[in-house]
Amino acid sequence: MKPIIYWFRNDLRLYDSIALQKASETNQPIIFVYIINSDWFKISELGFNRIGSFRLNQLYQSLHRLKSELQSVSANLHIFKGNPTAIIPELANKTDASDVYAHHEYAPYELEEERIINENVNLQLYWGNMIYPPNHVPFSADVSPYYYTKFMKKVIELPPAPLITNTKSFNTYQGVIPIETLELPLIKETISPVKLMTDYLQSDSFTNYHISRELFEGNHYSSFLSPYLADGSLSANLLYYELNKRQKQNPDLEQSVEKMKLQLIWRDYYRFLFLRYDNKLFYRHGIRNKNRDRYDDSEAFNAWLNGKTDEPLINAFMNELRTTGFLSNRGRMLVSYYLSKVMQVNWLWGAEWFEHILIDYEVCNNYGNWAYQAGVGTDSRFNRSFNLAKQVEKFDPNKRYIAKWSGDTKTKQNPVNLKIQF
Ligand SMILES: Cc1cc2nc3c(=O)[nH]c(=O)nc-3n(C[C@H](O)[C@H](O)[C@H](O)COP(=O)(O)OP(=O)(O)OC[C@H]3O[C@@H](n4cnc5c(N)ncnc54)[C@H](O)[C@@H]3O)c2cc1C
Repeated sequence: MKPIIYWFRNDLRLYDSIALQKASETNQPIIFVYIINSDWFKISELGFNRIGSFRLNQLYQSLHRLKSELQSVSANLHIFKGNPTAIIPELANKTDASDVYAHHEYAPYELEEERIINENVNLQLYWGNMIYPPNHVPFSADVSPYYYTKFMKKVIELPPAPLITNTKSFNTYQGVIPIETLELPLIKETISPVKLMTDYLQSDSFTNYHISRELFEGNHYSSFLSPYLADGSLSANLLYYELNKRQKQNPDLEQSVEKMKLQLIWRDYYRFLFLRYDNKLFYRHGIRNKNRDRYDDSEAFNAWLNGKTDEPLINAFMNELRTTGFLSNRGRMLVSYYLSKVMQVNWLWGAEWFEHILIDYEVCNNYGNWAYQAGVGTDSRFNRSFNLAKQVEKFDPNKRYIAKWSGDTKTKQNPVNLKIQF
């Protein structure tokens, strides 16, 4: 029997996976594959690559977990480094694989990847990794609602996509893998994302999520599940089901549950937006055909990135981000607003810095939110501005957060080979 290839993308898990279910149902021997894309390591004109050490480390941890889960059922994960458009067809050709199974992605680079691979092999793609994937909504993605509120109202009453129960008994390919694979660096055991989610939803912190997620910092002020949702080691759909379950168990949690469900709908919304607008979300003028005054001002950009602007709050946020790879949602909103609307710097540069530095970078969430804050996306008030003094008054009245992240915070992250001097 010919083998098939199962290609993991942003779905690094063995549960709630429709593509994996379909692959298992063929009963053909499966070659499990992940490809670390060599393009992620190319240094851009700004002087940094697309995957910094925070996210790379996160990715290695998720791959380790996945590999050991597969090993526990006598299967293996083969990791390659290169371009999927070259590796997948070569592997299929050399192993005589009949088909390649994977989940659809949503953004143009990944869609182009799918198109090229499909020219050479039978690529079987399934919609997944969403609560309301395109095949579960009564509208087609190319006319999906422009504004979030309209989108949210259209989907919130619909049943979420069903949770998939996956078998863990695979017919595993036993032949030789004819392309050089990559060994992962040694990484200590990490806690499972599903356990992190369950612990958080059971914790006292979650009780106040509807208020605390607006804060800059504090003990578990938000879920911190984004790195796992971004690489798919945590299923967003499972989280949605668990939220509904918690609400039934404890009606007092209603506000927190509702608030987090709305955030997960933002996540779906940006995926639909990418399906509808394709690479327009990477245009300088975004999806609004209006050119705003934005400059390729590297001096201002460097000041922003290094926390050396005239605004202590912005500096504190940027220092936290550089040091930890994470920033609260409010922090992200304010620094993106400040770079694009106050400093009037090309917003795509800021989005690219986030892509490099964030531990939880995810293309649709990042570029969708950046375009929104820069006034070239789907904010109905595209000239929206924030009063930073008021933000400090409300969220950091004792200036504790600013003090914590001000000054000469040592950066763990020193970009190398910079063309622009930081
Ligand atoms: C300029 C900017 C860039 C951003 N870049 C990213 C990114 O690259 N990756 C990313 O996952 N999120 C991004 N966000 C959205 C949001 O800030 C993070 O998802 C959130 O802060 C992660 O922390 P959490 O998991 O504790 O969030 P929680 O508040 O616990 O939310 C739970 C989940 O809901 C989703 N979510 C929450 N807020 C949003 C939002 N505004 N848009 C879309 N989905 C959301 C995320 O998957 C998040 O993990 C960005 C926001 C802004 C303003």
